[in-house]
Amino acid sequence: MERLRKNIIELVLTDYDTERLKKEDHGANELYNVVQQIGFDIDSVRYPKGKTHQEHSDGHEPSVYVVSDLSAASDCYRCVRACDEVQGEMVLTMAGRGFDSHIAKGTNESFKDSDCVSCGACAQACPTSAITDVFKSKETKADEVVRSVCTPAAWAATSK
Ligand code: SF4
Repeated sequence: MERLRKNIIELVLTDYDTERLKKEDHGANELYNVVQQIGFDIDSVRYPKGKTHQEHSDGHEPSVYVVSDLSAASDCYRCVRACDEVQGEMVLTMAGRGFDSHIAKGTNESFKDSDCVSCGACAQACPTSAITDVFKSKETKADEVVRSVCTPAAWAATSK
């Protein structure tokens, strides 16, 4: 099982900028934390990197609340499932196949131009902060925790 886990991480890292992974905010990056937990050496990926999804252009214009840098995405699908299955908004999807797979917003546009309603569910689900909120709240230490079913409402409650 341990060998299989390492192999899966290795495959994920063939399509991820490993140098960037070493430098990111490790507290907020779940991919880095998993790599550490299973004891995988980031520099020991045996497979050659492909033409990665990071080469896809990403409309950076944020929506009211959500911003993205999809070159940091691990293509885990969490944001797609949060948007489609939890929120029912169907804004996010996976486009392409293999190394060409990448997250697309709307019809491959920016958050601003898409039908995004800025609910923040994708940002909350994202393990690498490729999609985050404009306040980068995952990287900020909370001094107050408010439980809410609505992300913007929770933000409004704490930002007076
Ligand atoms: S903020 Fe909400 S509506 Fe917009 S892409 Fe993310 S999950 Fe979908």
